[in-house]
Amino acid sequence: MRCPFCGALESRVIDSRGLEDEVRRRRVCSICGSRFTTSERVQNYALFIVKKDGRREAYDRAKLAAGIHKACEKRPLPTGSVEKLITGIEEHIHELGRAEIPSTIIGDLVMEGLEKLDHIAYIRFASVYREFADIGALKDALESLATAQNALQLPRTGSKGVPR
Ligand SMILES: [Zn+2]
Repeated sequence: MRCPFCGALESRVIDSRGLEDEVRRRRVCSICGSRFTTSERVQNYALFIVKKDGRREAYDRAKLAAGIHKACEKRPLPTGSVEKLITGIEEHIHELGRAEIPSTIIGDLVMEGLEKLDHIAYIRFASVYREFADIGALKDALESLATAQNALQLPRTGSKGVPR
């Protein structure tokens, strides 16, 4: 970091303060002794969602959260489980390292998460997200879920493993 007064590259950090999304460092130039402040900021992570019709939209955590919360309305979920689900989804997305993500990938991740979390919330979300074309498609989904639930309940060994 170049001293703004003499241009020297050597400086010493004398104070460091972490703010919510920024770290500020007070420095003293090793050559002229001038003091100056540098700051480090998390780079804005611009992620775009590509909708089914090809439109792009900036990723919005609040919007995703609203959709999931709606599906989970009045369900007996542990506090913070929706936030945890979203954070998991975001981590997954960041790992993909892409600037654009099809909305279907996010939708599938939500479905995957809700399936493990709460089957009513899963069905509610699915009925909006998958836009079940007719009652038959919804019934199929419900039936395959019921089968999965039964399979889950039979062994009842107390393990948390979810057979897929
Ligand atoms: Zn200097």
